[in-house]
Amino acid sequence: PARTRFAPSPTGFLHLGGLRTALYNYLLAKNTGGQFLLRIEDTDQARTVPGAEESLQRTLSWAGLTPDESPTSGGSYGPYKQSERLPIYRQHAEDLVQRGQAYRCFCSAERLESLRNQGAGVNRAVGSYDRACTHISDAESQERVAKGERHTIRLLTPDEFPKVNDLVFGTVQFHRAPEAKAAAGPNVFAAQATYDDPVLLKSDGYPTYHLASVVDDHLMQISHVVRGEEWLPSTPKHLAIYDAFGWDAPKFAHLPLLTNLEGKKLSKRENDANVDMYIKEGYLPEALLNFVALLGWGAPMTMRDQVFTLEEMTKAFRLDKVTKGSTAVAPEKLIFLNKKHLSQRPDQGADWIYGVVKPALEEKFGKGENSEMKSYEQDSSVLLDAGYVKKVYALLHERLRKPTDLPESCDYFWRNPHEGKSGPELSSKLEPFWAVGLPVTTLLQHFQAIEIWDETNVNNAIDAAWKEVEGKDEVQGTFSKKHLLMSLRVCVCGGKMGADIAKTVEIIGRARVLARIEACLE
Ligand code: GLU
Repeated sequence: PARTRFAPSPTGFLHLGGLRTALYNYLLAKNTGGQFLLRIEDTDQARTVPGAEESLQRTLSWAGLTPDESPTSGGSYGPYKQSERLPIYRQHAEDLVQRGQAYRCFCSAERLESLRNQGAGVNRAVGSYDRACTHISDAESQERVAKGERHTIRLLTPDEFPKVNDLVFGTVQFHRAPEAKAAAGPNVFAAQATYDDPVLLKSDGYPTYHLASVVDDHLMQISHVVRGEEWLPSTPKHLAIYDAFGWDAPKFAHLPLLTNLEGKKLSKRENDANVDMYIKEGYLPEALLNFVALLGWGAPMTMRDQVFTLEEMTKAFRLDKVTKGSTAVAPEKLIFLNKKHLSQRPDQGADWIYGVVKPALEEKFGKGENSEMKSYEQDSSVLLDAGYVKKVYALLHERLRKPTDLPESCDYFWRNPHEGKSGPELSSKLEPFWAVGLPVTTLLQHFQAIEIWDETNVNNAIDAAWKEVEGKDEVQGTFSKKHLLMSLRVCVCGGKMGADIAKTVEIIGRARVLARIEACLE
């Protein structure tokens, strides 16, 4: 059984790449009967954003990726928040110093800065260090610590970093010198910052990511580290740290970069990567997971054209079917999957839809009767009622890309399309369907006579009105039944596009439909 972890830093919202990392970790753990952990990596205090941790947890639980061990649920290997484990890291760093695998560095920020500047000129790696402090004797080192001198602890790295045997990328070696990289051929990463002795413990007593990550993965008995490709260049350092401790390293699997359709890296700052935005737009968790699952995982042939649930993915998931080529995020596919998953929900997902569409309606038309930006045609409690919204959605959903496009795509269900327009302005819109108003006047009379306002009676009224005017002079040769229907649509919806007109008329209701037709006849 695999023990995996998702280890986000609380520096912002969860992005698609993060959701995929969480999902693959979850799938691998569950597929093998193991555990999935959530660990919060908050040792970079300057980058920690208040509220981000809660938001990450909320989004994960929205997606149904419930960790077996986490800061909120606890577990036997806690705490699961790195800022609560500081003594553990310090002790481990000191331990490496004792064993000659690490050393204290007293160099000032200015000195390091000037080393960096020199380095750039002579082809040395950014962040490289000249090991000046390795010449300080143990006695002197202790003495300076006792005096309270600021220092960091650095790993004394081997001449050559260990090779990474990655489950996705294969064997990857990072070479120290640029010449070595040139000699070594294509499957070699040129990671500039990997030359020197990485800092393990910072001068403020906080661990760096490298130390904290390795210590925790070891102590938490993680068997597989599954994370984004951007961490691959750090992995040789991690392997060197495992070696320094004399620990066995877990297995590593790095996940390919996600790009947009233009092949550019999805950026955390752009909204197309923000999972919370997808939630707000009405995507179902099962649709988003289905979508994210396929970003890099070659699902079995039999599953590719189907939609699948978290359970089905869990059964089918194989780490060796993850590709290393970067993967483009195609929004159309998500839209398709969302529709498919909606259709599989009981009641076509109506309750879900209402939950996301109502806020979208409120955003567009105002939050209720007292709202300043209110633009409802009538009592908003009627127009925001679940039954009403669901009826409109049922009529139009096939035309929508995503559920929350509803308010935009057919606003005439909530507000009067003729609001603020004069009679002549309106009737000019009705050309060329108009025929001096006779057919529409007749239709209005038939509508007024309807006893039970429903689709069937609306259709009957349209037929009867057309029968009555069909032979008349005004109409002959120039105006067809199609024109009558088009006129009706313009009167009721303010435009020429829409779903079935009789059903639309039924849903909007007698009072509003009659008033809108009358306004156009004025
Ligand atoms: N804290 C890192 C992040 O924010 C985790 C990297 C890892 O999984 O080791 O992505």
